Amino acid sequence: MKKEIINKRTKIIATIGPASESSQVIEEMIESGLNVARFNFSHGEYSWHERVMKNVREIGKKLNTNIGIIADLQGPRVRTLMSEELEILEGDVVRICDINSSDEYIDELKKENKVIILDCPKIIKNIEIGYEILVEDGLMVLNVLDKHDEHILTEVIAGGVVKNHKGVNIPDAIIPLSTLTKKDLKDLKFALEQNVDFVAFSFVRTAEDVIDLRNRMKQQLGRDDNLPKIIAKIECKKALENLDAILREVDVVMVARGDLGIEVNPVHVTLFQKDIILKCRKYLRPVIVATQMLASMEFNPRPTRAEIADVTNSVIDLTDATMLSAESTVGKYPIEAVSIMSHISTETEASTYDDLVTDVSMDMNSEESKIAKSTYKFAKEMEAKAIVMYSETGFTARLLSQQRPQRMILVATDNIVTYRQLSLVWGVTPFLYSPDKLRRDCLEQLVLDAKDKKILLTDDLVVSVLGSTKNGKKLKLLGTKII
Ligand code: PEP
Repeated sequence: MKKEIINKRTKIIATIGPASESSQVIEEMIESGLNVARFNFSHGEYSWHERVMKNVREIGKKLNTNIGIIADLQGPRVRTLMSEELEILEGDVVRICDINSSDEYIDELKKENKVIILDCPKIIKNIEIGYEILVEDGLMVLNVLDKHDEHILTEVIAGGVVKNHKGVNIPDAIIPLSTLTKKDLKDLKFALEQNVDFVAFSFVRTAEDVIDLRNRMKQQLGRDDNLPKIIAKIECKKALENLDAILREVDVVMVARGDLGIEVNPVHVTLFQKDIILKCRKYLRPVIVATQMLASMEFNPRPTRAEIADVTNSVIDLTDATMLSAESTVGKYPIEAVSIMSHISTETEASTYDDLVTDVSMDMNSEESKIAKSTYKFAKEMEAKAIVMYSETGFTARLLSQQRPQRMILVATDNIVTYRQLSLVWGVTPFLYSPDKLRRDCLEQLVLDAKDKKILLTDDLVVSVLGSTKNGKKLKLLGTKII
């Protein structure tokens, strides 16, 4: 792997799909800077997910690198249920009913107007006159004119071709589905059996949703620790309203700009992105910026200038990770997309534009927080090449990462779960050691291994921190060392 890629601080997630499922493409994406593979459970059979996840694990092992795996649960998504495609034109009157309506009723409606069926039972009751209904990422827009017991009457504001199984957003309606649907629970069971590192939770609305998911994980896995980290996808108004409460409970956050830009005014999404990233740093939660980052690379080998600017600005916002979706699932250039994203990240990180770090320390009275902050200042003052540390749960590593130091953060751990989950944490390169090694010995070994990988060179200065906050143990600043 190229040195600049090992040193890349902003992590890259690629969603895996038909364009990227082969071992060769996965390996080349990792060589190009991929850190985390995302599996979207809105698509694909279990046998496919199982086979490709196994491949990702094997290739990560072969390349001696920590690749994380995300299982992204679909969540309470309303979809179209169409027996055939339907063209709707601006100004058309269209009737919409849900899966509760009988075939006879739908046939009667079709005699009058075009009809769209939604797959969510009882949704019609929650839709009011004046609401907007957006189909397929908001490509088609319908406005509700009138409401009847079993259907609503709408006018097409933006037309198109309505296909089967396309996502539908109704931003003002309460969707009468629990946040974890039956499908999600089945997918969760499968994902936990595959030992995924992260579970992404779509359309999270409240902190209680997160608590519920964590309890279900504990129950299924029969343990309270070393659970997959929960990623809250912020993609609806309710999640924005409850952001602080959600952040207190959740492990990781995704700014899911696709749905968020449908549920709220898309002009506000970039501003929300900045607010959410800052808040996540404050709460010590890794954060991901997702969707349409290099969208044109689904078809073209080079991104647009505006897409490059989007990735650049997300790196300057100090996000932990950026994400590829269609570019890597069905796009023609999945490897190039990862490679260009890496290149933009490393160039931006090398500039001074990402060095203006807002101080976000949440609780500077905590001892760990003080030590992390002084370690970072000390490393800066000493012009150390890297901060090296031992971290059992990843907490110490995240504390240091929160400061976004312009230094490498090299982390020794004996916990395979932590090793993989650090794949999403800004600036951290973890090394895995066997649990029988003493922590100090791990740090000695880490320095040798980092030299081996040419991450560190002879005469480099490192600052080391030791400790874990688990079981009341304290962090200790061990000092400097020229290697
Ligand atoms: C999004 O809406 O931006 C997103 C990441 O969610 P999904 O791809 O699951 O629709």
